[in-house]
Amino acid sequence: MAAMTRTGFYPGSFDPITFGHLDIIARSARVVDKLVVGVGIHEGKQALLTADQRVALIEAVTRPITEHSGLKIAVATFKGLAVEAAKQAHATVIIRGLRDSSDFDYEVQMAQMNGSLAPELETVFLAASQATRMIASSLVKQIARMGGDTALFLPSEAQAALRAALSR
Ligand code: ADP
Repeated sequence: MAAMTRTGFYPGSFDPITFGHLDIIARSARVVDKLVVGVGIHEGKQALLTADQRVALIEAVTRPITEHSGLKIAVATFKGLAVEAAKQAHATVIIRGLRDSSDFDYEVQMAQMNGSLAPELETVFLAASQATRMIASSLVKQIARMGGDTALFLPSEAQAALRAALSR
């Protein structure tokens, strides 16, 4: 019997990708064979890094995960509904990370609404790991703006991209 490939779709802003996102991506290898990381582009939601920069960063920093686990990773931008992008990516599951109760309330509501829109997709939540649970891209950007060290939260490529974007 031909082995089936299970594909997941992991949507987010990734502005920039953090060790928290990387933890979820690496651990998704236990759930899916292939992961499509979707960089959402929303008119009106102002990002610090361009979509192309975010995609390039994700590609660069996830390469070791593929080498280590065999998880196939593709990175793409998407506009509009995550469920539509997930279907286009031939995903059967949407992967999301859960940090705390505010993530929980928001994420469960979104999973239910996405489930109504696309009943064939299942949202799978991975609980944040203890070491990376506190990391949020928005706070990391604030720290960087104020000259703080972001090495605990970001891979070096993302630190450099953030520094360059902020010095512009
Ligand atoms: P969004 O703008 O959709 O919140 P993010 O880039 O902030 O996009 O996050 C994308 C996904 O990654 C969400 O499911 C979010 O909960 C999860 N996530 C973000 N940071 C962490 C972290 N430190 N640990 C685990 N999951 C995280």
